Amino acid sequence: MFPCQADDIPTRGSTGGVEGKDAPCGKFRRTLHTRCGRRARTPASLPGSKLEPMPATVIVGAQWGDEGKGKIVDLLAQDSDVVCRYQGGPNAGHTIVSGGETFKLHHVPSGILSGKLCVVGAGCVVDPGLLVAELDGLEERGISTAGVRISGNAHLIMPWHVAIDSASERRLGRLQIGTTRRGIGPAYADKAARIGIRVQDILDPKILRQKFETALSEKNVLLERMHGVEPLEVEELAERMEECAVRLRPSVADTSLLVDRALHEGQRVLLEGAQGTLLDLDHGTYPFVTSSNPLAGAAATGVGIGPTRIDRVLGVAKAYVTRVGEGPFPTEIQGPEEERVRDLGAEYGTTTGRERRCGWLDLVALRFAVRLNGMTSLVLTKLDVLSAFAEIPVCTRYRLPDGSETAEFPAHQSDFHHAEPVYESLPGWQATLGGAESLADLPDPARGYVRFVEEWLGVEVSLISIGAERDRVVAPHGLASVAG
Ligand code: GDP
Repeated sequence: MFPCQADDIPTRGSTGGVEGKDAPCGKFRRTLHTRCGRRARTPASLPGSKLEPMPATVIVGAQWGDEGKGKIVDLLAQDSDVVCRYQGGPNAGHTIVSGGETFKLHHVPSGILSGKLCVVGAGCVVDPGLLVAELDGLEERGISTAGVRISGNAHLIMPWHVAIDSASERRLGRLQIGTTRRGIGPAYADKAARIGIRVQDILDPKILRQKFETALSEKNVLLERMHGVEPLEVEELAERMEECAVRLRPSVADTSLLVDRALHEGQRVLLEGAQGTLLDLDHGTYPFVTSSNPLAGAAATGVGIGPTRIDRVLGVAKAYVTRVGEGPFPTEIQGPEEERVRDLGAEYGTTTGRERRCGWLDLVALRFAVRLNGMTSLVLTKLDVLSAFAEIPVCTRYRLPDGSETAEFPAHQSDFHHAEPVYESLPGWQATLGGAESLADLPDPARGYVRFVEEWLGVEVSLISIGAERDRVVAPHGLASVAG
């Protein structure tokens, strides 16, 4: 049995995970739920229950990552109870500006800033040292991390994964993938090969040590002979990991049960993806992809709930496009305007500090993302960054090597590699979006830009972000309708 179980679900209306635990909720949920007008206490996860659970909302990156998901999750978390990460590891980097302070999160879901229960799901990979540093860093800044729960089924990123990631990229040279070199790919590879070490293994130092011995007998050969890297010492590793384990043990939980119970309790659950649609292992621009599935469909498996529990999928896209690392990028801007977009949008990686490649909005790729995720609405971020331009090109079609044009994302890799963007030019607004609070406050051409995107994609834009701060958003149909 994990130390933290589903009893620490916060009550709807409480301020968050920890508070939810201490508040008079656990045993008295019926009273509070009745008072706040939501579903009453339910033993719905027990046999025989007839009550319908609350549906969950997925927030997924619709491009190549870095779309500003962190800000959107942080905003919507204000009115949610549980926020879950369902895939990826510390290759993710969400930058959130809250109360004038900037937070960079890698492992922990963005809901932590609002004191919500934050789940790191089974589909994630966790670097114990980095997670402890992240938790300590948040605590030092006065953010309680007592609401963090880590799935025992999530896999651990071990020092050999990090060493192998760097060594492989070096060996690939010109053909490198452009990973963050944080060991994510090798950790997922071991998971698939069924030789990974899981978070639940840290609960027992003896088991953990045995697993290190078994793993290192093979990994050290690989490190030394193939990559020319120093071997790792079992003793030293076990000591280092025990320090992390002491800190993390209380947070290990049966998070699938916890989320299921939360939904049955009428809680609002957000499922937060890392990276983006085009980096999906199965449907992205392989091999320049991440080693997990950011797509909304993976949220259910990554957290451990059924797909029928999800009824909203919010895709987050920038009003332009960026890409980090290698790989084809049809709308990449050639010339000085790329630098201009990069500077205006502060397009430098949260995890690596690398310059992001910048391009104009690609509606072919975005249509693909609408399809792959079953998007119910779109969040358009960083519209303010385009305020400087008199004309804004938007790619609506690709021209393929045979001269034909298509609005559908090419199914074949070499068609995509050689696709040329066909642009329509939309008028810019060349005015600050300042403190716009409603659609009517935006300049005409800015509204026209949003409308063009909606019409081309056939999906509603439910939120427009016009600045890094939490309150710099316009919700054309009201904030309550976005994820509520
Ligand atoms: P994520 O990984 O998808 O959360 O994205 P990142 O955190 O890597 O990048 C988003 C960056 O854009 C962060 O620095 C945010 O503070 C910033 N940001 C988010 N929304 C907006 C916006 O509407 N306008 C501007 N100018 N910056 C934004």
